[in-house]
Amino acid sequence: MVIVIRNGAGEEQIAALEGWLVEHGVKPSVTVGDKQTIIGCIGDVSQIDEGRLMAMSDVVASVKRIQDPYKLVNRQFHPQDTVVEIPVAGGAPLKIGGGHFQVIAGPCSVESEEQVLAIARAVKSAGATLLRGGAFKPRTSPYAFQGLRREGLRILSAAKAETGLPVVSEIMDPRDLPMFDDVDVLQIGARNMQNYELLKEVGTNSRKPILLKRSFSATIKELLMSAEYVLAGGNPNVILCERGIRTYETTTRNTIDLTVVPLLHGKSHLPIIVDPSHATGVASLVHPLSMAAAVIGADGLIVEVHNDPPHALCDGAQSQTPEMFAAMMDGIRNVRPFACR
Ligand code: PEP
Ligand code: MN
Repeated sequence: MVIVIRNGAGEEQIAALEGWLVEHGVKPSVTVGDKQTIIGCIGDVSQIDEGRLMAMSDVVASVKRIQDPYKLVNRQFHPQDTVVEIPVAGGAPLKIGGGHFQVIAGPCSVESEEQVLAIARAVKSAGATLLRGGAFKPRTSPYAFQGLRREGLRILSAAKAETGLPVVSEIMDPRDLPMFDDVDVLQIGARNMQNYELLKEVGTNSRKPILLKRSFSATIKELLMSAEYVLAGGNPNVILCERGIRTYETTTRNTIDLTVVPLLHGKSHLPIIVDPSHATGVASLVHPLSMAAAVIGADGLIVEVHNDPPHALCDGAQSQTPEMFAAMMDGIRNVRPFACR
């Protein structure tokens, strides 16, 4: 339920209304916008009598019930874009969403300190603002490289210390959260998008930005419901990510669903970024699809870059070389002024 506050209502009247809502068992969330102030009601609103609310006509302008099952992530509940902030040591935080665009780049997996440092330096000089690298890898085969785990996180910290780039890394197990202390953005991968215990853990016990990747078989509603878990836990810092869905087409690794970018901007206030590397599985397709994502209003990109793709331990075929990445960044800078948002 969303209560639109009458223009001109005073702070005391709004506070009294909030108190009334709490007495009736719901948690109010006030959003003060340029044009209007609204109160989103969290919890069981079935007992709230709309007639009694409308009778408070000095403070209540209108009341609407949100029919969608996702509430906190719903744009009706929170009309302004959420701008997620990522702290940067000794500098202003990086912002993503609400017109702020960031590019996250780096290897699929952390393989060695030399590898990560070489790639981190290269992507930084090309204009990336965050470094990605998997230390815990969700692999289809148990015999494939599983990641350097704790040592991988140490290497990412070393790369951050040298380059100043905040790091993004995938967490797969709720018990690992303390190990991710020096990771700036916690990635929840496609395979774990519906790992509800993991979503609850990062929602309740962390306030770090969560990069929530859409599962390859998830509907938009399912993606938003997973994001709702994180916000319901108390962590408002969620960045959604489209990374391709599974269709009948097998020429590409997945089918990129760019429709979700403008669609989700309508349905939700959360930022949405695109991962054209996993969406296509083909390095040469990453540049054109990144440009497309930027133009349709994505809030950022996450792309895989490797200094020796043929020998990458994971996802070499979709990894750009540093030179390809630099060319792509030039393209992005050229098209960003034409972004529809
Ligand atoms: C990754 O980012 O390396 C990854 C495993 O992504 P996804 O969960 O989208 O497959
Ligand atoms: Mn990968």
